[in-house]
Amino acid sequence: MVSEGEHVVVIGGAGFLGSHVCERLLRYGYRVTCVDSLITGSADNVSQLRHDRGFRFVELDVTRPLSEWPELPGGSVLHLASPASPKDYRRLPVETLRVGAIGTENALELASRHGARFLLASTSEVYGDPAEHPQSESYWGNVNPVGPRSVYDEAKRYAEALTLAYHRERGTDVAVARIFNTYGPRMRSGDGRLVPNFVTQALSGAALTVAGTGTQTRSLCYVDDTVSGLLALWRSDLTGPVNIGNPHELSVRHLAEEIRALTGTDSPITFIPGAVDDPRRRCPDITLARTALGWEPEIDLREGLRRTIAWFARHTVPAVSAAPLANDSR
Ligand code: NAD
Repeated sequence: MVSEGEHVVVIGGAGFLGSHVCERLLRYGYRVTCVDSLITGSADNVSQLRHDRGFRFVELDVTRPLSEWPELPGGSVLHLASPASPKDYRRLPVETLRVGAIGTENALELASRHGARFLLASTSEVYGDPAEHPQSESYWGNVNPVGPRSVYDEAKRYAEALTLAYHRERGTDVAVARIFNTYGPRMRSGDGRLVPNFVTQALSGAALTVAGTGTQTRSLCYVDDTVSGLLALWRSDLTGPVNIGNPHELSVRHLAEEIRALTGTDSPITFIPGAVDDPRRRCPDITLARTALGWEPEIDLREGLRRTIAWFARHTVPAVSAAPLANDSR
């Protein structure tokens, strides 16, 4: 179990999700060391935290040998480092595999040496294109091990296996969270994921480009809910894996229509070729999180989208080009 006020090392803390985790931990009174290479994250994501005396930023690639790491405090280790958008991990295939493998091993070593609790941010992508619906933690998945997404999916599957191996062999206190699609402020407008794509397109008056037929489903969790779920798991004594996501399932086309309506744009919805191995259905079974953690999402889609659209409207310069952004339904 984790005690109040202790130190937490958040690896990948300058990313979208990690920056919200750092912020919440500081608000709860923890001290936070944010470790990040900034390969897909940004110092801007944590710039508002730098004045907080409990916050420290360390720029580091966690695939570097542990012997080259600076001294880090001996608290919990939350490992969120990995390119996460399909656009990023296709651009960075080897880096994605390395951070899932070597980065995870280094992070586990750090936690293990300090006797600290370790949390892995895994993903619903370990289920691949699922043959079971909704996906519960007992489902083993249907992943193409050599397709373009395999660098991410298999890196996370390996990271889960390694985490459980440290637990079984070395007694490391671990938790594995399988995070489903999360959206919210601080996503990058061009990162290729569904919500930032559609919102950016709608705000700039461009066509909303739906990949494939748009009948494929997703379930989207607002970032504040995901952070609450992750921290509830971290503060519990569960090992997991535990699904963290929103079970409200909707089609990609419906999502595009919803964003179109909320932004008030008259941009059309157009269709582009679907991505290889794009999962047809994605919806978490969160019975375990509900019963064992007492957690479930509280922010409904419309409210989450409103907050996200408001943030994008304030933070992004409307694009002049109506060129379609590729999206592959994440
Ligand atoms: P992100 O790309 O915004 O954040 C990842 C962070 O990790 C970035 O700041 C990046 O610079 C850092 N990083 C990557 N490689 C690193 C390395 N070698 N050393 C140090 N830092 C490194 O992505 P995100 O959406 O915030 O995702 C965070 C984590 O949550 C990822 O592990 C991702 O797999 C997982 N996840 C996210 C979602 C989602 O919908 N956002 C869903 C499932 C799982």
